[in-house]
Amino acid sequence: METGDWDSLLAFDREHVWHPYGALPAAPAPLPVVSAQGVRLKLADGRELIDGMASWWCAIHGYRHPLLDRAVGEQLQRMAHVMFGGLTHEPGVRLAERLLALAPPSLQAVFFADSGSVSVEVAIKLCLQFQRARGREDRTRLLTVKGGYHGDTFGAMAVCDPVGGMHSMFAGALAEHVFAERPPDGFDAGLDERWAAHVGELVARHTDELAAIIVEPVVQGAGGMRFHSPACVALLRELCDEHGLLLVLDEIATGFGRTGELFACEHAAVAPDVMCVGKALTGGYMTLAATLCTREVADAVSAGEGGGLMHGPTFMANPLACSVALASLDLLLDGADGQGWRPRVQAIERGLREGLEPARALAGVADVRVLGAIGVVQLEREVDVAAATDAAVRHGVWLRPFRDLIYTMPPYVTDAEDLARVTAAVVDAARTASG
Ligand SMILES: *Cc1c(COP(=O)(O)O)cnc(C)c1O
Repeated sequence: METGDWDSLLAFDREHVWHPYGALPAAPAPLPVVSAQGVRLKLADGRELIDGMASWWCAIHGYRHPLLDRAVGEQLQRMAHVMFGGLTHEPGVRLAERLLALAPPSLQAVFFADSGSVSVEVAIKLCLQFQRARGREDRTRLLTVKGGYHGDTFGAMAVCDPVGGMHSMFAGALAEHVFAERPPDGFDAGLDERWAAHVGELVARHTDELAAIIVEPVVQGAGGMRFHSPACVALLRELCDEHGLLLVLDEIATGFGRTGELFACEHAAVAPDVMCVGKALTGGYMTLAATLCTREVADAVSAGEGGGLMHGPTFMANPLACSVALASLDLLLDGADGQGWRPRVQAIERGLREGLEPARALAGVADVRVLGAIGVVQLEREVDVAAATDAAVRHGVWLRPFRDLIYTMPPYVTDAEDLARVTAAVVDAARTASG
């Protein structure tokens, strides 16, 4: 590939290439990245930016990690891909084994999907097929909470926030699910009795048509970067048990240590019936997600009509992705220094709390919140994304604000000095965007 002709590449990008959630051409224009190493992205003009976004929650070990590079290289010597229908392979089986060892013990089966959204589609199918197999074909709706985000495909969109989300224009084309009010804000808020009564009433009212409850446990990500009490998740577990519903926890953003526990459901000591993981699963190297379920769900669906789970992506369990996911999980648990992810996430949490504190004093800042390796500054109005991004770039930091939020979820390998630059950039971006 010829490199370096960025004028013509950017011109073609402008004319022909979609970027996420945007018009063509993308505005503001995207920055060209030529390589990345550690926590730094290198731009075509030679500038380096510390990645405060971990490529949207994914690159937890940073870029070009030698062990992850090696895992991909070694798998490439064996095979890049092979179909999973009728065939199996070591990276797929070993990754399933590893995920089940890490997840709550009641989860006993793994479906590999090619993106987070698809893993949510699969989770929904599991729930509907489970209820059908038990003779409850009337149970086809889901209950969720407002403010959620579960992906961009049609099944997943239907359980995203119906108003504030990115999908309100599709309303008429989506399955109509049951939405409860957002859990009250605050990780430490405890269980709000009014919210509990509201959700309990809603579940009771719709019990005969509900198949499952689906939520992001403890942290709502792309729906608004909000934190709620683990007690809310525990309440949903109780309601599911009481009414014969499945509990689906979407851990795609929260999984693999991001919130300070390996999975966010551990804050609530709750095990789901179905769990989705993705994003950081491969350390940001390849697209891969998985839907985990209990033996009871797997057995019911397998014995039901159709004789199994009706899904099977072409690139299911891609061996390159499974291999790098295994290496990423090794790194997560053991790290280069043998300490694993927890002390690193705790150090980042402390650094975020300290570094973001000055934002509280800024005019136009509504809230500052930190949980695990997630730091959020919420403004009173919509962020001027271009101005906020520019301010961060001047600090040598990559941030991607949205709506009223300037936030960071840095790679776990970010050291104290780089983290201080990230938080300074967030604070300055907030000052710029609100000023
Ligand atoms: C990102 C995300 C998804 C969608 O994952 P994709 O890989 O982008 O399809 C679903 N749920 C949550 C909670 C997410 O953060």
